Amino acid sequence: MPQTVIILGGGIIGLSCAFEAARRGMLVTLIEPHGLGGQASGAAAGMLAPYSENTEQPDDFFHLCLSSLQSYPEWIKAVEDGSGMSAEWVQSGSVNVFMHEADVLPIQSRLDWQNRWGAEAQLIDAAQLRKLEPMIAPSAVAGVFTPKESHVYAPKLVTSLESACRKLGVRILEHAGQIEDVLVHQSGGVSVRAQALKSLVHADRLVVCAGAWSGAYEKWFGLSIPIHPIRGQICSFGHDAAEVRHMVFSSQAYWVGKNNARLVCGASEDVSGFETSVTERGIGRLIRSSSRLFPFLVGRQTAHRWAGLRPATKDGQPLLGQIAGMPSVIMASGHYRNGILLSPITALLTADILEGKEAKPSISRFAPDRFTAAANRGMARALR
Ligand SMILES: Cc1cc2nc3c(=O)[nH]c(=O)nc-3n(C[C@H](O)[C@H](O)[C@H](O)COP(=O)(O)OP(=O)(O)OC[C@H]3O[C@@H](n4cnc5c(N)ncnc54)[C@H](O)[C@@H]3O)c2cc1C
Repeated sequence: MPQTVIILGGGIIGLSCAFEAARRGMLVTLIEPHGLGGQASGAAAGMLAPYSENTEQPDDFFHLCLSSLQSYPEWIKAVEDGSGMSAEWVQSGSVNVFMHEADVLPIQSRLDWQNRWGAEAQLIDAAQLRKLEPMIAPSAVAGVFTPKESHVYAPKLVTSLESACRKLGVRILEHAGQIEDVLVHQSGGVSVRAQALKSLVHADRLVVCAGAWSGAYEKWFGLSIPIHPIRGQICSFGHDAAEVRHMVFSSQAYWVGKNNARLVCGASEDVSGFETSVTERGIGRLIRSSSRLFPFLVGRQTAHRWAGLRPATKDGQPLLGQIAGMPSVIMASGHYRNGILLSPITALLTADILEGKEAKPSISRFAPDRFTAAANRGMARALR
């Protein structure tokens, strides 16, 4: 009998885990309380940028991001072949822009280690920068060009994954309502009750991919799951592809040109609970940064404004792996700013765990109980 798996959450992480598990022959049921891709995954800019996102050191998190980037070509092909739909993966490269000479001084040591890990990045002067991005403000003094970074159109990747999952026979229970109960049976197996589903859903294993809502599972797993929502406000302008050719990062914001003639500019990082509205203050800051770096945008109206909730853990790194003492439950949550980038590696590692294989690269650093263990250590110290 093939293994049966319940995936909880229908964002990019849940859909990717469902796709990979189904590709490996497992019988998968995905339960989504609302609509698929309706949260962070549908809001994301879709950048696959492990070098721009990790500027300090090649730690375990950087290696996880890099492995995921390296998995992308095969992954996108599998998803697009499986669905017959494009996810608009654009291998644009990225440009990090500097406005002050002082910002350039520390860059060489970053380039040294990043190039040891395949970035092929170069420091470029103002003239080279303008060759790559002719519309950039004259005040920009230098940049780093990283050709290996790319982007997808996140809503299309979500739709493409959904279609590929359905074709593989994944049972998708959308608009299932609130998850009311999770039972992890001593004898093995799990059961889930959702408000709008008539009966309990049973399976051998459970994968929690509930993004910013994953903290709700603390009560069922007896685990500290410190995941909180960090709102990202983001907007787009009408755009001609020749105006901004690469992904561009400044210290204030980023810009990504999409195939649908939109230039996406993001994103704020603010704490607003589970609120997903946009504010004049949040979007206004993006508009001002856009006009400063790209003078052609002065006076251009935004075409669209939206927001999503990044699932942030206390240390900014995901919870990935089996829960200690509860081998039928796997967490794949808390991908914060990098869930689109990390979706293939998360799915591949989760499927390896489901198959009982050793996860490579090692994910012990991302153990889901690391905050519980830390809290217990703190309590033991307090009792001494
Ligand atoms: C503005 C913005 C820009 C971003 N840009 C990028 C980028 O360029 N590159 C990148 O890699 N990442 C980016 N991110 C981060 C990325 O979007 C997230 O890390 C990623 O989408 C997380 O995916 P997820 O499936 O875990 O969460 P989500 O997409 O939020 O999905 C979680 C799902 O769980 C469901 N759910 C709610 N409650 C429960 C429950 N109790 N049980 C089960 N399911 C539940 C929700 O309805 C939702 O559908 C960005 C995020 C934002 C907000």
